[in-house]
Amino acid sequence: MIIGNWKMNTARADALALAEAVANMRHQDSTRVGICPPALWIDPISQVLEGSSILLGAQDCIGDQFGAQTGCINAAMAADAGCSMAILGHSERRARFGETTESLLPAVAAVLETGMFPVFCVGETQIERESGRALDVVAEQIRPLLSVGLDISGMVIAYEPVWAIGTGLSATRLDIEEMHATVRDVLGRADALVLYGGSVSPESAEDVFSAEGVSGALVGGASLNADKFAAIVAAWERK
Ligand code: PEP
Repeated sequence: MIIGNWKMNTARADALALAEAVANMRHQDSTRVGICPPALWIDPISQVLEGSSILLGAQDCIGDQFGAQTGCINAAMAADAGCSMAILGHSERRARFGETTESLLPAVAAVLETGMFPVFCVGETQIERESGRALDVVAEQIRPLLSVGLDISGMVIAYEPVWAIGTGLSATRLDIEEMHATVRDVLGRADALVLYGGSVSPESAEDVFSAEGVSGALVGGASLNADKFAAIVAAWERK
């Protein structure tokens, strides 16, 4: 699975052109490819993607039902607009809006309830890694998901070391393997889908994908360029 997270990028015309290019991109049936555009462009892009195999996702949503929540979109709206997944708990939202796994539990439940799947992000900061706490920190970010009786078997986890996002740095193959094994251990599911994210590019993809236990990638910056995104998909398919 290769998912593009466009973040707060693209004017409307650029978003539609990029979605069109991704829709026309060739990929194997066994590779699930998706894009998460800014919320405002989800609806027009769902029309661009009609008839294509590209999955559409929201970058975030909240767990509340409809109501007085200025500036928010809920899971039902995202699903209604054509999304089949929603990124939750991205480190940029954890850092800026104080989101935690506990505070995200209603969103996780709401996303699952709509039939979408969450792409749930976890990852340690540089200080946490340097102090040898990376595995514990990520385990702690996952454990609350297990405590509320949700069926999270359809959930995708994205391991995204915070220090690797948008920096051009990537975790080593061994660190990725160790973390992905830990994620599956904590989940108690050897078959869980665990993506890697953090400066995945056409240049780094081959190395990242050679790590055991990587189920694909969550791609930020490089997903804004259709050729680079296609090259990452191609690297996945060569692996
Ligand atoms: C991300 O933030 O999800 C991400 C992986 O970004 P980038 O690829 O730009 O590091």
